[in-house]
Amino acid sequence: MTFSLKSSVFAAAALSVAAPAIAQEVNIYSYRQPELIAPLTDAFTAETGIKVNVAYLSKGMIERLQSEGDRSPADVVLTVDISRLAAIVNAGLTQPVSSDTLKANVPAQYRDPDANWYGLTTRARIVYASRDRVADGEVTTYEDLADPKWQGRICTRSGTHAYNVALTSAVIEHLGEDGARDWLEGIKSNLARKPQGNDRAQVKAIWAGECDVAIGYTYYMGKMLSDEEQKEWAESVKVVFPTFENGGTHVNISGVAMTKAAPNKENALKLMEFLTSPTAQEIYAKANFEYPIAPGSQPDPLVASWGSFTADDVNLMTLAGHRATALKLTEEVDFDG
Ligand code: FE
Repeated sequence: MTFSLKSSVFAAAALSVAAPAIAQEVNIYSYRQPELIAPLTDAFTAETGIKVNVAYLSKGMIERLQSEGDRSPADVVLTVDISRLAAIVNAGLTQPVSSDTLKANVPAQYRDPDANWYGLTTRARIVYASRDRVADGEVTTYEDLADPKWQGRICTRSGTHAYNVALTSAVIEHLGEDGARDWLEGIKSNLARKPQGNDRAQVKAIWAGECDVAIGYTYYMGKMLSDEEQKEWAESVKVVFPTFENGGTHVNISGVAMTKAAPNKENALKLMEFLTSPTAQEIYAKANFEYPIAPGSQPDPLVASWGSFTADDVNLMTLAGHRATALKLTEEVDFDG
């Protein structure tokens, strides 16, 4: 009697040790949409047996992580834009992760020098130029956009939007604070209309004849081409990858970070290594017409068809450090006014 009871207890204990995968999980807080994340988390679970729970947030990630504190269930955060990644790091909500796999998969300019976040995909901030009204080679640099030859011909969204603040931060890095102020003033005096709308609205304005060149992210080309109404807008423009005179094309990133309170640290590291693998990056990039960054990875053929470019090699954390100055300059020149 006693013997058989003991052996069944032993058998139960052995069972739970033998099947740890069932209880294994990892929790993501994501600012990125389910359709981008689901194919990757499904593949990760299939490969590792680790269950992935995702909370999709549209705002308030920092406040939520702060109020949950040490008891936060979040292991990993997924977001886009260096300003958001930097804000989470600067709030003390992440922890550094050291991994040879992560370093091998993510080139140095696309990861935090202190290892608090790693990039996964990029988008380039480019010039959309009218096929009819802008000749090939008429605009090749960001500096060109401030030239008076563009007077009344440029459209853009608000200068205080994160996308343009990141670009202005890159301008500060390359031209200095005074150079960036001149650049913003030059662009402002070339605007066809006050900054308004999103990136796609600028391409629509080119299509409608309101302006000839616009500033926007590459992935919107793919989004417009996939939309019945917006296809015409996309077809009225060509993609130009401007560079800085002393640098490359400005890109921004989507990235991943491990939270400071991560309860499933080992699984979080496995997930991060999986997400940065060339294959996972290619799947993630394709879903939003972005560029994978792992050595040897390739963009989707449609994305590749817009042309190749050399990305600026300034570390994105350096750009995050110029954010406050970029906003200050944008307000000083009354860019949106
Ligand atoms: Fe966007």
